[in-house]
Amino acid sequence: MLVDYHTHTEFCKHAQGGVEDYVKKAVDLGFDEIGCSDHAPLPGNYDERHRMNLEEYYSQYAPMVSGLIEKYQKRIRIKRGIECDFLDWASEWNSKFIAENSFDFVIGSVHFVGPRGEEKPLFGCEYDETEIEALYEGYFLEIANSAKAGLFDIIAHCDIVKKFGSFSSKRVDELMWEALSQIKKADLCIEINTSGLRKPKRETYPGEKVLTIARDLKIPLTLGSDAHNPERVGMGFDHAINLIKKYGNGRISVFERRRRTEAKVG
Ligand SMILES: [Zn+2]
Ligand SMILES: [Zn+2]
Repeated sequence: MLVDYHTHTEFCKHAQGGVEDYVKKAVDLGFDEIGCSDHAPLPGNYDERHRMNLEEYYSQYAPMVSGLIEKYQKRIRIKRGIECDFLDWASEWNSKFIAENSFDFVIGSVHFVGPRGEEKPLFGCEYDETEIEALYEGYFLEIANSAKAGLFDIIAHCDIVKKFGSFSSKRVDELMWEALSQIKKADLCIEINTSGLRKPKRETYPGEKVLTIARDLKIPLTLGSDAHNPERVGMGFDHAINLIKKYGNGRISVFERRRRTEAKVG
């Protein structure tokens, strides 16, 4: 079984290609499933530069995905997903949005660290060395909180903070362990996100340090490219499949109507 559960499209204003282009690429690759999981709207059009708004979601994206599910039903299973930002203050709103839609899976992402009004975004910016320690600590705290929120099925790219530079400390290790423990406690799965392979560190999100904890805690794994271009669907999956074999018993989580089952990867 091969799935790519994490894809974006031009609807989010920072990716290229329409939904169908991603589906076609997954069909060409012979995948069993592709998840359409563009960035969800947020209340008050928060961070609207990186996402569609509610109107666009309901009038364009959702019907587009429905039409393609139908059109491609003999060629590939298209799953209705969404990548939802965890923001404590937006949880009620997110909960309502998720409940209003019949998703196959909901990916929870931490892209903002810190309290409302002082959030440090994790895209479109850089941090200098003096800020890294606090950023790492805040990041893993938010991952733990996102798992506790009770909103999501998959926790996305759960060490992406490393793209700003390496950092480790006893405190960060503890917070990392606590974050993964909360993921396990909430019975969620994590994705192996291959977009990090294109970055200077050439590591998946998460890398093997976090995956070792995930294996110890028996946290299930799934696969996502985080493609922002149709050409990147399934990118780096050979490597990711090896990681699934090493850290996830060769099994991946697959979803239907938010019910998780497992399948042999490959
Ligand atoms: Zn994006
Ligand atoms: Zn994404």
